[in-house]
Amino acid sequence: MLTARRIVRMNNVVIVGAGHAAGQVVASLRQNNFNGRITLLGEESWYPYQRPPLSKRYLAGDMQAERLYFKPQVFYDQPNIDVRLNTRAMAIERATRSVHTDDGHAFSYDYLVIATGSRPRQLALPGADLHGIYYLRSIDDVDRIRAEIKGNRRVVIVGAGYIGLEVAAVLAQLDQQVTVVESADRVMSRVVSPELSKFYQDVHAENGVQLKLSAAISGFDGDNRIASVILADGEKIPADIVVIGIGIVPNTELATDAGLDVTNGVVVDDHCRTGDPHIYAVGDCTWHPNRLLGIELRLESVHNALEQAKTAAGNICGEDLSYAQVPWFWSDQFDLKLQIAGLSQGYDEVVIRGRMDERSFACLYLRNGQLIAVDAVNSPKDFVQSKPLIASRAKIDHALLSNSDIALKDMA
Ligand code: ADP
Repeated sequence: MLTARRIVRMNNVVIVGAGHAAGQVVASLRQNNFNGRITLLGEESWYPYQRPPLSKRYLAGDMQAERLYFKPQVFYDQPNIDVRLNTRAMAIERATRSVHTDDGHAFSYDYLVIATGSRPRQLALPGADLHGIYYLRSIDDVDRIRAEIKGNRRVVIVGAGYIGLEVAAVLAQLDQQVTVVESADRVMSRVVSPELSKFYQDVHAENGVQLKLSAAISGFDGDNRIASVILADGEKIPADIVVIGIGIVPNTELATDAGLDVTNGVVVDDHCRTGDPHIYAVGDCTWHPNRLLGIELRLESVHNALEQAKTAAGNICGEDLSYAQVPWFWSDQFDLKLQIAGLSQGYDEVVIRGRMDERSFACLYLRNGQLIAVDAVNSPKDFVQSKPLIASRAKIDHALLSNSDIALKDMA
């Protein structure tokens, strides 16, 4: 728990990155009575903000940019907090414990927190640099996409993961003609079961979204500006705009160049520490162990970013915090709130609780009889109550789980 009351005397923490995780590191250092200097280096022009609403309410135009802020701007006006926006860290020099930035400055640290997050995976195909082709990761990206939304335009979305489907839902509701092109044979295949993919495919189709599954894109056609998306089978899909959402890659180059251990993320232990005792890493960019799950992994989730940030900040302040929690995620599409707890990969049985046709149900995933994950659709109780069951690795009878008259919390 981050309840330390003592004053922690420390000189200098530098945080590279200014996203959700970085914002939480600042807040948690303050909550831990850290009274040294905190420097936040962020390449974007915005203070730390929440990304999840970008592909949802912010894209829909229902939210102002400032409402996305993790903390109001005045929070950073405290003495000893130095926020450097529009500033890119170029190198970490471990020997002198300093970070060099693109404006020629060097910032020395006692502790460094790498919170560099991730960037959209690029689609390197002919025509991919035509105007009108977008990726979605930042406020600026969404502002550019929003500026294109008018009338009844033809939008092609590449990738039917969270980002692609959330954008499809918002744009369909804004009366755009939406086609989603997905290389796999079903939507959200990385995270959900075929049963749930089918459910979401039907919902999108009902709302006028055209889905092209098992489709390979060979390039983009147009004269300066996008005109059509070309599929490998020769089909050309006319397009006024393209939005690409085919996953992310962690920003690990700074860590690699500094000689830190990097695989599919910056390698940290359960204390969020890298191999260098003066350097921590948090959020999307980390490859970390999770004792509850018994695996090492990289997570693209707000929950993970916040919890790792709290862990790193606490440990910098002399606590002994270990991070191991059940991961969770969510996605809003049309009137459906999908809440996911746990990781379903490797399940051998799926149980449906509630009624899909009533659009309020949960898919429960079991492995060797143990509950490992839950996808809850408009079923927040099942989502909340499943987390302790997943953490306890409970073995629960199939028939009991599928009986939605019995609350999950009563099955422990
Ligand atoms: P994101 O967070 O960007 O939504 P996901 O990994 O959840 O990322 O989803 C990305 C989706 O993009 C996956 O369903 C994947 O199969 C799909 N995809 C990846 N590469 C391509 C491609 N070249 N063309 C079409 N779809 C792709």
